[in-house]
Amino acid sequence: MFYLSTRNEKIRKTPAEAILQGIADDGGLYMPESFESTSFPMERLTEMSGKEISAKVLSLLFSGDSMFPEDSDKEAAFLKAVKRGYDGKFDDEDYAPLAKVGDAYVMELYHGPTCAFKDVALQLLPQLVAEAKRATEMKEEIVILTATSGDTGSAALSGFSDVDGTKIIVFYPKHGISAVQERQMVSCKGKNTCVVAVEGKFDDAQSGVKNIFATLQLPEGVKLSSANSINIGRLAPQVAYYFKAYRDLLMGNEIKMGDKVNFIVPTGNFGDILAGYFAMNMGLPVGKLVCASNENKVLTDFFEKGVYNKNRDFHVTKSPSMDILISSNLERLLYLVCGAEKCASYMKDLKENGEYKISSDELAKIRAIFDAGFADDKTTLDVINSVYAKHGYIMDTHTAVAWKVYEDWAKDNGNGYKSVVLSTASAYKFSNSVMNAIGKEYDDEFDALEKLHKETGAKIPGSLVGIKEKPVVHNNVVKKEDMLTFVADMVGKKEWIK
Ligand SMILES: *Cc1c(COP(=O)(O)O)cnc(C)c1O
Repeated sequence: MFYLSTRNEKIRKTPAEAILQGIADDGGLYMPESFESTSFPMERLTEMSGKEISAKVLSLLFSGDSMFPEDSDKEAAFLKAVKRGYDGKFDDEDYAPLAKVGDAYVMELYHGPTCAFKDVALQLLPQLVAEAKRATEMKEEIVILTATSGDTGSAALSGFSDVDGTKIIVFYPKHGISAVQERQMVSCKGKNTCVVAVEGKFDDAQSGVKNIFATLQLPEGVKLSSANSINIGRLAPQVAYYFKAYRDLLMGNEIKMGDKVNFIVPTGNFGDILAGYFAMNMGLPVGKLVCASNENKVLTDFFEKGVYNKNRDFHVTKSPSMDILISSNLERLLYLVCGAEKCASYMKDLKENGEYKISSDELAKIRAIFDAGFADDKTTLDVINSVYAKHGYIMDTHTAVAWKVYEDWAKDNGNGYKSVVLSTASAYKFSNSVMNAIGKEYDDEFDALEKLHKETGAKIPGSLVGIKEKPVVHNNVVKKEDMLTFVADMVGKKEWIK
């Protein structure tokens, strides 16, 4: 398997190179050259454990000898890496349990160390990076640069903290994330970690990081990579849980082999839902992939009109991890539908004018698979309350956006297939909003966490117990235009002393 840039197919890399590099030299994202050799053995699905499904998906997407060159059984080698990444990290050892709620299923992807779905990928990415480094005999130190809308940062810090041969710098929007999210990051003790608040919004942080990739002159012995979903090594582990959800539905006799299933995905950077599209391309029977947005509904508008326009007001919402106007991974879908040349020209339009328009044929191809909808903050909170009242099930604000979109969609366009709503964060990570939703009083966000526990009786995730007392060890704040010089300074230092 080779990986090609979405903007120029002449840029061809092995899986190991694509993982190490993160983003292509021309600013494009890496895509498998084809899905032909990646078909998943569905007939074996019910015999496989969650971790075996992950290993199978990785061995299909990262086939060839660039990873684990000396192992003849690649699947077994990937399984070892999956176990190193996951063992002991998820409650009940299950990275994606399904809960039945009403007539749908909620896939709970938040049982990892930082209580958001990004753990599923980011507990594994360091293993993939370490193997790619070893297999390619790379001597340089890898500096992971990441922009976060709140959850990638803590998950990436948790994954990479004190991993040899790597350092990690995380940028987050100073006023765009919750107090719990912020404390999870700025209390990270790893000696190879650096956390920086940017005076701006997520898109500023993300553009700043892309700019650093494109322009920073690196000192000898240092290479940059990314833990954002622009890195294919971050996306691939997410493909597995779509297969796993299907397996769980089969095992629970909720569906029969071959039945299609819909997935409703709370979306920001379009990575999670795109992983679902990868799964479909690898043979998973999918009905529709429904893209759920909050008030920053640039994607809802795109799926409706075929025009992507980021020139609009930005809203800080109660589902902050989805407060994004430039959904990077949409580029990968465009590449599949339109090819590299048109993809490159759309991306140029986006950069120059903040807008691009696809043809009606292209839109029709996309709409055959994708639907979209959005929910504003008020409806999101209402839905948390109504689902709790009706089903006794408590969900976070991101999941609630998707649930609301599911309810509306099922009423108007539903296709009769079973539907899985992806739950991307623990309610405890956004406990103040959840408490507001169910009409309960509290003092501050940390107090809300305790009170939510008293109210619902649901267990507080271990990593959030005592979060308020965790000391702050990072207090860097930079202007968005100073990100480059900040990183230039940091990569020049041998040791980071806090
Ligand atoms: C990151 C995140 C999302 C959005 O996922 P994308 O892959 O960026 O679309 C949704 N919900 C939560 C809680 C997140 O952390």
